[in-house]
Amino acid sequence: MKFGGTSLGDASAIMNAASIVEQFHKGNQIAVVASAMNDTTDHLIKLGELAQRGQIWEAKNLLSRIQALHLSTAKSFAGTKPNLASKEMLAKVSALLSNLERSVEGIGQLRELTPRSRDHLLSFGEQLSVPLLTTAIAQKGLKAQAFTGADAGIVTDNNFGEGKPLTEISMHQIQQRLGPLLEAGGLPIVTGFIAQNVDGNTTTLGRGGSDYTASLIGAALKADEVWIWTDVDGLMTADPRIVKDAVTLSNVSFREALELSYFGAKMMHPRALQPAAKHKIPVRIRNSSKPTFDGTLVSANEKASNGKVAKAISIIKDVGIITIAGASMMGAPGVAARIFQTLGANGVNVVMISQGSSEATISCVIARKDVDRAVRSLQLSLMGQGQVEKVTEEKDACVIAVVGSGMKGSPGVAARVFTAVAKKNVNVRMIAQGTSEYNISFVVSEVDGPETVRALHDEFALGSKNQSS
Ligand code: ADP
Ligand code: ASP
Ligand code: MG
Repeated sequence: MKFGGTSLGDASAIMNAASIVEQFHKGNQIAVVASAMNDTTDHLIKLGELAQRGQIWEAKNLLSRIQALHLSTAKSFAGTKPNLASKEMLAKVSALLSNLERSVEGIGQLRELTPRSRDHLLSFGEQLSVPLLTTAIAQKGLKAQAFTGADAGIVTDNNFGEGKPLTEISMHQIQQRLGPLLEAGGLPIVTGFIAQNVDGNTTTLGRGGSDYTASLIGAALKADEVWIWTDVDGLMTADPRIVKDAVTLSNVSFREALELSYFGAKMMHPRALQPAAKHKIPVRIRNSSKPTFDGTLVSANEKASNGKVAKAISIIKDVGIITIAGASMMGAPGVAARIFQTLGANGVNVVMISQGSSEATISCVIARKDVDRAVRSLQLSLMGQGQVEKVTEEKDACVIAVVGSGMKGSPGVAARVFTAVAKKNVNVRMIAQGTSEYNISFVVSEVDGPETVRALHDEFALGSKNQSS
């Protein structure tokens, strides 16, 4: 079971999570994975940036908010007459908070925030939430024991900020370290999102990485199911913040969920499903405030499209387009290779690619935060060699994806998509269809994003007003 930050927002949410664990522990063995409380990770990111820029006053303010939240939550679990376990928990939380303060001071003094020191900083969120959840579960009379991702055996490569677990060794270590505790009726409570590299430095698995931790642990322990507790009923036909009548999907396949998460249903870390999918372990997404509701079952089952062509519409915000142009790029095959090599070497992840055949251009969609770095590195490595003449950027873009296994081999879907978009007078800047035919994705300007999602949600009749029962 993984509890997302939205399910661990304050003491009462943590208490609720503990009750869910207690309820389902009867007759089951449960390993628990916890995210950081609420938006603590966002705050830690901000904190690092403030310290790096030397905005000490603002950094101190934000730090105090993080400290206050965790201290007050810790105190509410310890009560007025803390027992030994509670005293230990309070000491642990205070020690972590002073440690966090020192790390921020270090960043402030050096005015330096490297990917590695940033991961160290971000790791405090989960390190702080785990002792709280562990205490809440222990107070239910269960044998809960706290682990960091590293203690649990998760080892990653050196890609700080987006660490990739070395699965063989991680899974082996997880079995060795968590298996015996589970057999003995205990509950490991593991920090999501954070791990370490082979040298023992803290790494993180990328935003939303606790889902990945849960799926990896589930696969290692050969769990019957992996449950992701969150603040919505499950995977929905669209982000409910954008589409008011979005509905919960009761069944989706791993493929569909993957396309959805990759295309920004922030709901889930894009690589999170890999370990579970590989070992055919069903993943259930459930609402922690409605524990009786079944949620969405993600499984290897490809059917169950309810006769729908498209199943869900998702959106990736905060992206930009870079376009590489040059008249003599045509028929010069090495250029594309050099573009992607340069982007890869600079840690820029490419979301979408398209090559114009009439004009000699290649366009890539990448995260907006990477645009400047990408443009600079492409200019350095490609220009002045005859083929590439110009590297341009557009920063206000978003990617819209229409996803569903029912689209495969069903003609006319693309026509419906683009007719619906055209009716809204929205200009499409770039198009790609995955060869899987599980998705059609395209780029529009940022301001047009939400309207486009709503138009498509209506076109494919995905909303509650179209449900027959
Ligand atoms: P957690 O802290 O539980 O990991 P997240 O914020 O990471 O929660 O993910 C849950 C949120 O994802 C929901 O509150 C919802 O607003 C958003 N979301 C975006 N797209 C979808 C979708 N297609 N289905 C469900 N939720 C979605
Ligand atoms: N706390 C991390 C994040 O916000 C990991 C997670 O919640 O899954 O990205
Ligand atoms: Mg999440």
